[in-house]
Amino acid sequence: MTDHIEDSFIKKKNRGGRPPNSIWKDINKGEAVGSGKFAASCKYCKNTWSRGEVSKLEEHLSNHCSDAPAAVVRRYMTKVMERQDKSKSSKKRKYSEGQSNMDDYHDSTELNEQRCTRINRALVKFFIACRIAFRVVEHLFFINFIKKLNAGYNTPTREVLVNQLLERELAQVNFKVNSELEKKMNLTLGLLN
Ligand SMILES: [Zn+2]
Repeated sequence: MTDHIEDSFIKKKNRGGRPPNSIWKDINKGEAVGSGKFAASCKYCKNTWSRGEVSKLEEHLSNHCSDAPAAVVRRYMTKVMERQDKSKSSKKRKYSEGQSNMDDYHDSTELNEQRCTRINRALVKFFIACRIAFRVVEHLFFINFIKKLNAGYNTPTREVLVNQLLERELAQVNFKVNSELEKKMNLTLGLLN
């Protein structure tokens, strides 16, 4: 019995240590250029980095790669969200949720990545919740409508919408559900003790 407890304790301890990084299964690792930075290229799309950091590469796969398979997107999305969740609790966020950025009201010709991500998420929600046929995303009139709203936003292709974007949204939802469940579990356990 004690052995068993010690065993699981050791296992837990080991799990806390830094696991070998699995990013190199999905990214081609080139030469090391400074501490923690590498020349790298994506195995799925044509993206290359002259000084890629692991966290940036993970973000590419979770948020920006247009060709990564759904399972890969999900894996990195979860990773990135877990990391954000940790840093969120350790430092105050600059913007609270729902609060907008000045940038939101600018019809800029070039949108930053965060804004593209937010628009993409809203787009997926709209297509799913309203049961719009995915092919509509490539319809000339739809694209025209979006371009009138903001010329800087490029609508995704149907494939990207169905694979990467939908998968990201799914991972976000799963992550939220899991963390809510975990909170409830902890509460129940706390009450039982
Ligand atoms: Zn890529």
